[in-house]
Amino acid sequence: MSRANHQIRLAARPAGLPARSNWELTTEPVPEPGPGEFVVAVSLLSIDPAMRRWIAADYREPVAIGAVMEAGAIASVTASQHPDFAVGDHVYGGFGVQEFARSDGTGVTKLDPLLAPLPAYLGALGTTGLTAYFGLLDVGRLRENDTVVVSGAAGAVGSVAGQIAKIKGSRVVGIAGGTQKCRWISEELGFDAAIDYKSEDVARALREHAPGGVDVFFDNVGGEILEAVLGHLARGARIVLSGGVSQYAAQQARGPANYLALIGARASITEFLTPDYADRYAEARAELAGWMREGRLVSREYLVEGGVRAFPDVLPKLFTGENIGKLMLAVP
Ligand code: NAP
Repeated sequence: MSRANHQIRLAARPAGLPARSNWELTTEPVPEPGPGEFVVAVSLLSIDPAMRRWIAADYREPVAIGAVMEAGAIASVTASQHPDFAVGDHVYGGFGVQEFARSDGTGVTKLDPLLAPLPAYLGALGTTGLTAYFGLLDVGRLRENDTVVVSGAAGAVGSVAGQIAKIKGSRVVGIAGGTQKCRWISEELGFDAAIDYKSEDVARALREHAPGGVDVFFDNVGGEILEAVLGHLARGARIVLSGGVSQYAAQQARGPANYLALIGARASITEFLTPDYADRYAEARAELAGWMREGRLVSREYLVEGGVRAFPDVLPKLFTGENIGKLMLAVP
């Protein structure tokens, strides 16, 4: 009898946060590799805020109704007819929310478990770390003595962005929800200040912690926090538009009412997509791995057990802010 491959498919587009009713659990036989293909068993699924965008009707190419939900994942090769992938290889790829996947190797990277623990390849050595690295250093054009503000600062990307800014000698102010998160980024990650947006007036706290204004704002959340920072920019400030978690589940994303502040500050706001930097991943990974080895960069993972069945309950955790560090789902 063939083994089962459990999968999570999109059953209906959500309004607001996705609920269990938006998903369907399906079971198929584990696929067999054809010539030039291999099959993987997924072990860790990357859970990303952008998943909410990928299933939105207005997204460029949304996940189709009935399709397996897209997801980046760490997996190991279980069967292969591919010359470059052998049984036992550890890999990262867009394998989706399922237990097994067939691949021809497109977009799949081999991972070295001796270089770093496998979960780190979803954290500081994965898209998370690469987003922080290119966002801050390339898009944000970080300069010596800049004052850097990071939103979503105790999340996956934000916590790495803030640490890189510290490594580069910046003054770093993190904005996060709750005392536990604020304590972690200031006491353990060494941020210079933390603002708890759930209990503090962000605009007032920015005046206190960034008296000369904000040179680089690494924004993960958008909304009211983006507005507060726009009101406190230094001349020539660079706003790095990493994402806007606060707007992802909204029927209509809200832009900042005070965007004209950019003119007075001679500031810019720049979007980016990390895969556009793929030809420089090796260079970035080497530097990130070096910082990790030296103990200057912490990759924190927030691992949830439960396998693909738990996915519908795990994705909303990003929007309620349950995670500290990179949210990932273990697949047994
Ligand atoms: P994350 O920050 O680990 O998790 C999301 C966090 O957002 C939550 O922990 C929560 O923290 C915060 N949040 C949720 N709702 C919020 C709200 N209404 N207002 C303020 N904060 C809210 O997620 P991540 O994976 O690191 O992603 C962070 C950002 O990077 C996202 O915008 C994502 O789309 C972006 N990203 C961009 C690229 C790219 O290529 N441009 C690539 C990867 C990721 P609190 O408890 O602090 O609220």
